[in-house]
Amino acid sequence: MPHTPTASGRAWRATVLTLFPEMFPGPLGVSLAGQALGAGIWSLEAQQIRDFGLGRHRAVDDTPAGGGAGMVLRADVLGPAIDQARTRDAESPLVYLSPRGQPLTQAIAHDLAAGPGVILLAGRFEGIDQRVIDGRALREISIGDYVLSGGELAAMVLLDAVVRLLPGVVGASESLQHESFETGLLEHPQYTKPREWEGRTIPEILLSGDHKKIEAWRRAEAEHITAARRPDLLKSALTGLSTRKKP
Ligand code: SAH
Repeated sequence: MPHTPTASGRAWRATVLTLFPEMFPGPLGVSLAGQALGAGIWSLEAQQIRDFGLGRHRAVDDTPAGGGAGMVLRADVLGPAIDQARTRDAESPLVYLSPRGQPLTQAIAHDLAAGPGVILLAGRFEGIDQRVIDGRALREISIGDYVLSGGELAAMVLLDAVVRLLPGVVGASESLQHESFETGLLEHPQYTKPREWEGRTIPEILLSGDHKKIEAWRRAEAEHITAARRPDLLKSALTGLSTRKKP
């Protein structure tokens, strides 16, 4: 795959601050994201937070102030870890993956893809000291209303969503245009060969070769499925308020 530079001419740079750097690139090392990583379209650095740990045991956490279960990642460990990452990527947004964050959307993925990269902080245990969030103005992003045991999988989800939007990652830029959320609608159903499977056929119109009619059918299906499953999305799509900003 040819190296397609981003607008800045440099690879899009991702840094993940984590207690488990061995989890990376993991699933991001295969398929689209992995090929793009190999081609230098983006880069990934997993920084071990424990390198900034305190004392002989490189402690990174301590008990919650005020009592309670579990451990909290220390501000005086995370602060220097973040600051070191910032010296390499001064312009990149700082994101803390957190169930209390703004829900991740396609619009956020586009915003991040348009920038130079991102520095991601993956929490563990009960989370991180609030003073880091405040003192380093971390943007909190959630991948859904459930609690994971750590931010690493959330970081991978976010990176996967962003990387496939970088120029040159998805072959035909065509194939991004009609996807779920890009139009503010969920995607129409897809079919491929064979023409008949277990007595089920492909809708006749898709075999007609009439591209105008096919386009209209797909749009109607997309509206139908969005109305049935996500009426909240349909409302904004029909009033022209796309879920993403036009570039
Ligand atoms: N006690 C915290 C949860 C800590 S879970 C609370 O109730 O809010 C441990 C770590 O997993 C968090 O620091 C965060 O980095 C990550 N995490 C858990 N759920 C997540 C989600 N839905 N989205 C993004 N990150 C999440």
